[in-house]
Amino acid sequence: MHYHQYYPVDVVNGPGTRATLFVSGCEHQCPGCYNQSTWRLDGGKPFDEAMSDRVIRDLKDPRIKRRGLSLSGGDPLHPANVPHVLALVRRVRAECPGKDIWCWTGYLLGELTPAQRELVCLLDVLVDGKFEKGLADPGLLWRGSSNQIIHDLALWRAQQGERIPCQVCS
Ligand code: SF4
Repeated sequence: MHYHQYYPVDVVNGPGTRATLFVSGCEHQCPGCYNQSTWRLDGGKPFDEAMSDRVIRDLKDPRIKRRGLSLSGGDPLHPANVPHVLALVRRVRAECPGKDIWCWTGYLLGELTPAQRELVCLLDVLVDGKFEKGLADPGLLWRGSSNQIIHDLALWRAQQGERIPCQVCS
């Protein structure tokens, strides 16, 4: 996997102070996309073990307390990115307890592949759907167009408890 940009301190992409990774690679080609430079899978720089270590180190840094990690792009759920993003998310879950993970994707929650769902089951929040130019609204929080939905998966799991299976994994 390649990444386009990494912001170790970010207050724009999600709630609170965060670390944000923009991965490379997106197949949606939304008209009006302002991140076209992230479409190519081989654009940007390689996301190697050293970068993964850096994200973990930043999330654990007590000098700047981050609430969590934001994953955007490009598309973190592009099939070619999924195994690599899954490995990073697993590291965050194992090594950075208490940090939340937000992810933006052009795919729809209800149309994910089993591999994408495996990753999404480890997220706190998924913002899904392509950017629709005709529905764009700069007043929207954490999404570009009104068709996109902020799925608070952590809240949903907490409310459902063990009563019914997870809507994503099942
Ligand atoms: S999903 Fe996002 S990055 Fe991909 S084309 Fe649409 S707006 Fe651009």
